[in-house]
Amino acid sequence: MLEQLRRIVQKVNNATSLEDALDIIVCHVKRAVRADVCSVYLTDFDTREHVLQATDGLRQEAVGAVRLPLNRGLIGWAAERADTVNLDDAPAHPRYLFIPETGEQQFRGFLGVPIIQNRRVLGVLVLRQRESRRFADDEVTFVITLAAQLAGAIALARSTGELARLHQQQGTVPARFLQGLAAAPGIAFGTAYVVYPPADLDAVPDKPATDPETECAALREALAWVDAEIARFAERVGDALRTEDRALFGAWRLMLKSESLVDDTLERIRGGNWAQGALRATVAAHARVFDEMNDPYLRERATDLRDLGRRVLMRLQNRDAPRAGYPPRTVLVGDEISAMQIADVPRDCLAAIVSTAGSGSSHMAILARGMGVPAAVGVADLPVGRIEGRELVVDGYRGRVYVSPPPSVQAEYERLAADDLALSAELDGLRGLPSETTDGYQLPLFLNTGLVSEQRPLGIEESAGVGLYRTELPFMVRDRFPSEANQMSNYRHVLATFAPRPVTIRTLDIGGDKPLPYFPVSESNPFLGWRGIRITRDHPEIFMTQVRAMLRAAVGLDNLQLLLPMITTVDEVDDALLLIRRVHDDLLAEGHEVSMPPIGVMIEVPAAVYQADALARRVEFLSIGTNDLTQYLLAVDRNNAHVAALYDDLHPAVLRAVLAVLEGARAHGREVSVCGEMAGDPLAAVLLLGMGVHSLSMGAGSLLRVKGVVRSMSRSRARELLHIAVQCETGRAVRRLLIDALEEIGLGGLVRPGR
Ligand code: PEP
Ligand code: MG
Repeated sequence: MLEQLRRIVQKVNNATSLEDALDIIVCHVKRAVRADVCSVYLTDFDTREHVLQATDGLRQEAVGAVRLPLNRGLIGWAAERADTVNLDDAPAHPRYLFIPETGEQQFRGFLGVPIIQNRRVLGVLVLRQRESRRFADDEVTFVITLAAQLAGAIALARSTGELARLHQQQGTVPARFLQGLAAAPGIAFGTAYVVYPPADLDAVPDKPATDPETECAALREALAWVDAEIARFAERVGDALRTEDRALFGAWRLMLKSESLVDDTLERIRGGNWAQGALRATVAAHARVFDEMNDPYLRERATDLRDLGRRVLMRLQNRDAPRAGYPPRTVLVGDEISAMQIADVPRDCLAAIVSTAGSGSSHMAILARGMGVPAAVGVADLPVGRIEGRELVVDGYRGRVYVSPPPSVQAEYERLAADDLALSAELDGLRGLPSETTDGYQLPLFLNTGLVSEQRPLGIEESAGVGLYRTELPFMVRDRFPSEANQMSNYRHVLATFAPRPVTIRTLDIGGDKPLPYFPVSESNPFLGWRGIRITRDHPEIFMTQVRAMLRAAVGLDNLQLLLPMITTVDEVDDALLLIRRVHDDLLAEGHEVSMPPIGVMIEVPAAVYQADALARRVEFLSIGTNDLTQYLLAVDRNNAHVAALYDDLHPAVLRAVLAVLEGARAHGREVSVCGEMAGDPLAAVLLLGMGVHSLSMGAGSLLRVKGVVRSMSRSRARELLHIAVQCETGRAVRRLLIDALEEIGLGGLVRPGR
C-alpha cells in the first residue's frame, strides 16, 4: 500500500486544480481499497453545509447539488467529532441519513474520515460498500494519510479563491482573505513584490517578461554556460571516474540541449513568462513525468533534471542581480524575508511586509514594528509563486491579506486607514511630553535599535536613550568578523547620537535565528543551542574585541551600558566580568582613557528568572528579554508559524516570571528594565507599570502609543489591574481585562484586534 500511497500523493501534488486533486483522490482511493463508492464532501462555512464535491460511484449530477447541514447525518457526525467513523452497518446507526439525490442505494459499509488542517475540519472523505464491511486498520490509516494530504490542497484552494469560485458556481460566497498573524500594526495598500532565496527553483515566481527576446537570449546563454561548465568539469575529473559516471555527464549535456527542455522553456517565455519562471515550469513538468515512471532508475532522472535546472537558474540570477525597480508602494512578499531584503527597499517605497513563515516575535516582525511598516506573517496559504505584481491590502492589526480586493473591501480599508491617520495625528501631539502617569510617576521609555543600519534612528527625540542596541547586524552583513576599528566607529556613532542619554549595547547574540554566513553552525535545535553568550564565552577573542570597541567608543561620552545576552548560569556572568575587567585594564595600560561601564544581564532564560537575585548581586542592572523568555517558558519556537498562536507574552506564567525577577533584583537594589516586544505593547505596558518595572525599551513605532497609555493611567489603577491580572488563569483573560480597561479610558484605538 505504501507504493500506492506514494503515487497518489504525487499525483495530488501535481494536480493543476483542486477539482483535479479531488477527482484523483476519489478514483484512486476507491480502487485501492476496493470500495463501491468514494466521495469527498467539503465544508462551506458561509452556508454551514457539507457539499458533495467529488465522487466515484455516485451520480455525477449530485456533485455540487447535495448539500448537508453541518450537523446532519454520519458525515456531520464525523466532522463534529473530528474523528473517523467506521461502521459495518450504517443504516442501523441513529445518526444515519438517507440521501436519495446521490442515487445511493442502501449501502451498509461506511467509512468517514475528516479532512483536517490546523485543527479545523475542512470536509469529510467517505467510503461506502454495498455489503456489510468494517474497513481494516491499514485501510483506515491509508485514507487518513490521504485526507491529510488533501487538507493542504483544500487550504490552498481556499486561500487563492479557487474554492470560493467553485462554491460560487453552486451558491454564494463573500470576499475571502488569507489569514496570517498580526506582526506589525497598520493598514497598507500596495503591489506584491516577491523575494525568494537564490538558486531555489521552486521559489521562483511567475513574472511577465518585459522583452521576450532578451529573456530567450538570456536562457540560451545560461544553457550554453552550464553546458560548457559541465564539459570543463568532465575534462578535469574525467580520468578519475568510472565509465558509467562519465556517461552521466554526456546525458546531462544532452538534457541541456534537448528539445523538451529548451523549446518548452522558450515557448513559455514567448507565452509571456520571464526566463526564470518559464524554466521553473518546464523543469517541474518534465520532472513530474520522470517521477511517475515505474523504473526507479528513470525516476532518479527527475533529480538530475532539477539539479540541472538549478544550475541554469543560478546563471540566470547572476545576470538578473541585483533586482531593482521596486513599485512605489511595495508589499514585500516571501516565504522568509531577511533583514537584508527589507533594508534593500528604499524606505519611502516600502508599504508592507507579508511572509508565509515566521511569527509575531521573529526578528523580521520586530524590525517591521520598529520601522512602523504594517506586516502579516505566518500567512501559510499565500500563493507566493503566483502573486507578483498583484494588488494587495495588508491588515497588520488582524494579520490578514486580501489579494486583488473587491471595491467593497478596498473602501472599508480606506476608511480604517483614515482612522489610523487620525490616531497618528493624535499621538503626534504627545511628542516632547514626559512619560508620566496621571499621579506623577515617571516611567522612562527607551528605544530598541540596531536591527537596521540607519544613520539617524527613528524616535531619537522621543526616547530616554537606547535600552537595547542589537549588535548583530554589522556582523551579519559582512563576509568575516568586523574589526575592532570598524565596530568602534559603529558604536561611537550611536553613543554620540544619543549622548548624554544612556545607550545600552548588547554583546553579540548570534545563533538561534541569526546565523553568520561565515561562521556556520548546524544544529537541529538552534534556539537551544550555541547562541549568545555561549558562543562568545567559547570565543573570548571575539568577545574581547567587541568589548574593546565598545569601551574605546565611549571615551569622553561615558554613556555606555553593557548588556550580556542569554545568561543561564552565574559562571557565564563571572567569566564575562573577568574578561571585561581585563579589557578595561589592558586599554588603560595602552593609554586609552576608558571607564568601566555599568554592566547588566538579560533575563531571557527561565533559569535566570529563578536566579535573578544571584545575578543581580553581580551586576548593576537586569533587562528582561521577554521575546526569548516567553519562547522558553511556553516552549514555543518564536519563528514557527504552526505554534505561533500559542505564543503569548500575557500568559500568566510570563507575568509571574517578570514579578519574580523584580523581587530578585529588589533584594540587591538593582533596577529592572523590559526590552522585549512586551514593553512596546500598550496592553502589557499597563501591567509592567503596575509591577514597578523601572523602564521600558521598545521599537520606535511603539514609543508614542505606550506614552499615550502611561499618560492616561494612574500608577494605582495599573496596580489594581495587575492585582486582577495575576489571578487570571489564561492569557486570553488577561488580554480581555486590559482591553476593557483601555477602552474605558478611551484608548481602544491603540489596541485594534489582532494584538
Ligand atoms: C528578547 O529576547 O526579548 C530580546 C530583546 O532579544 P532578541 O529579540 O534580540 O532575542
Ligand atoms: Mg533575546
